[in-house]
Amino acid sequence: MSLERTLSIVKPDGVEKNLIGEVVRRFEAAGLRVAGARMLHLSRRQAEGFYAVHQARPFFASLVEFMTSGPCFVMVLEGDGAILKVRDLMGATDPAKAAPGTIRKDFASSIERNVVHGSDGPDTARFETGYFFAEFELARRGGAA
Ligand code: GDP
Repeated sequence: MSLERTLSIVKPDGVEKNLIGEVVRRFEAAGLRVAGARMLHLSRRQAEGFYAVHQARPFFASLVEFMTSGPCFVMVLEGDGAILKVRDLMGATDPAKAAPGTIRKDFASSIERNVVHGSDGPDTARFETGYFFAEFELARRGGAA
């Protein structure tokens, strides 16, 4: 596996449920390191830009509404195979279909209010990391570029 960086977000429902620590704990327990993190209340424009790939989907307006409804906790994680590792820990988009022991299975209340986001591939991870963090804001412990 190669050393990767990926972007994860504890979404407004996860922050509201006081799950920031639990989500970070699960990532750290899986061997991932936090390279950067901050609280952020997304503007409508920021949420629309972040989810631009979904703008033609019927749930886009609702998703933007949800993501701007309260503060988020955005973080960059790094580690071997970080992108897939975060996806595995999150579970399927729809909590009803998520595997036991995943974050979404344990805490999500619907397909939209599903507590956590994680980049779905290397190109997305690069775009999403750069969307919220400048390079100088990220710790470089594992040598990731
Ligand atoms: P993810 O990569 O598992 O987060 O899923 P997607 O990239 O497909 O969708 C992005 C986000 O849009 C999801 O995490 C949900 O918050 C939301 N979403 C996805 N599918 C649906 C849907 O069918 N209905 C609604 N209301 N929201 C959805």
